[in-house]
Amino acid sequence: MPEDPTVAVVGMGYVGCCTAATLADRGLDVVGVDVNTTLVDNLTHGRLHLDEPGLAEMIQAATAARRLRYTTDFAAVSACDVIVIAVGTPIAEDGSLDDRQLRDACLALREHLRPGHLVVVKSTVPPGTTRGLVAALLAGEQRRAGVDYLLAFSPERLAESTALDDLRRFPIVVGGIDERSTRAAERFWRRGIGVDVLAQDSLETAEIVKLADNWWIDLNIALANDLAKFCALYDVDVLDVIAAANTIPKGKGHVNILLPGVGVGGSCLTKDPWMVWRAARHRGVELHTTRVGREVNDAMPAYTAQMIIDELGALGRDPGTATVTILGVAFKNNTGDLRSSPVVGVVEKLVKAGVQVRVHDPLVDPAQVRKLLGVHPDATVAEAVRDADCVAVLALHDAYREIDFAGLPVARPCVVVDGRAYYPKEKIAMLRQLGYRYRGVGR
Ligand code: NAD
Repeated sequence: MPEDPTVAVVGMGYVGCCTAATLADRGLDVVGVDVNTTLVDNLTHGRLHLDEPGLAEMIQAATAARRLRYTTDFAAVSACDVIVIAVGTPIAEDGSLDDRQLRDACLALREHLRPGHLVVVKSTVPPGTTRGLVAALLAGEQRRAGVDYLLAFSPERLAESTALDDLRRFPIVVGGIDERSTRAAERFWRRGIGVDVLAQDSLETAEIVKLADNWWIDLNIALANDLAKFCALYDVDVLDVIAAANTIPKGKGHVNILLPGVGVGGSCLTKDPWMVWRAARHRGVELHTTRVGREVNDAMPAYTAQMIIDELGALGRDPGTATVTILGVAFKNNTGDLRSSPVVGVVEKLVKAGVQVRVHDPLVDPAQVRKLLGVHPDATVAEAVRDADCVAVLALHDAYREIDFAGLPVARPCVVVDGRAYYPKEKIAMLRQLGYRYRGVGR
């Protein structure tokens, strides 16, 4: 492989775009390959379909410098040295891998694979998928992984809204089908991204590392959510408990309880623990923690909606005539991604209780919000909160940090429900001084 390899990134969604832009930013020539013609056309004309801080600027710069181009034609990969696969890997109802995107990508690549190619799978998959599915599909009559081409798995561990920073900071995990593949992938990432690379013994080790990360995160948030419910019973602020509990050293770090909130969304944490559960069950082992984490976190939107309804009651308002405004509809702060957003569950329960729900989110596509929630989003915060009995901050985008609560045209009194803002105590005191009630998850 040359010192400065040329790269094809297959699948130009969140992970593909961030990876391609970062590789191009590091001076490599990159081609993004996707089956979505509209997406490829948009990228070619400088229109990005994602809201990720810094990504649009990076894509624009790389495109203008001709280090990044886009195509639907898989023939483009044959001129590249490295092929990175970043297509979507959703799960089916039973937790098994919906491998259609991965299958189609491999079948299309097979035609254009040449000796010496390094193929790196980045999509999250159950252990054994790179060996059992990808290598099998890429195999031609005379083509063997590790002999005629190199094959490795390298999980993507970035989080949306901090994706570019994560990519430039997190160590990259690599496991190859053989030693030569592992070493080639290791060299590629050192040059391509410039971070530490952690070489693993096998494809399967690298596949499981990714699942372990998300299993831990989901379960830890579930612990924080149960702890929040527990603290609420004693009128204790869960954030005080977490801050103090996290100070004792354990293992190589500290106790590290994450933060509670309205629920867990996005395309990864909601599916990866199920992928683990299903893969284990398929081999006759029942894992409990994956399922418990998912169940606790999936119940949080209903818990939050009930909290809102209770607060309306405390204000003496009938939910059947009350108005609740939700600020932030995306699945987390500072992203425009609506995939598996917990806000959907909150809105469903509020609407069922007869509440009139209004929403605002500067980062999401209004048409998608209408389709998902059946509510037309208001254009400004002021319009959205007019005469509202409750303002529920369910994603604290940067645009909401400076909201002047004193000047909001809400009904009086009004309750602020904090689903993910984690307002500090001074801010809560200020809200109370202004005549608002305040309630947070576990606060
Ligand atoms: P995505 O849905 O945003 O993007 C997938 C892209 O692949 C789409 O643009 C789609 O058009 C394209 N595609 C589908 N079939 C194709 C084919 N046959 N050939 C070429 N392109 C094809 O998905 P994503 O969020 O970028 O996730 C990609 C993978 O990375 C998944 O396995 C996911 O679990 C994992 N992951 C995602 C994140 C995240 O934050 N989004 C983080 C870590 C890991």
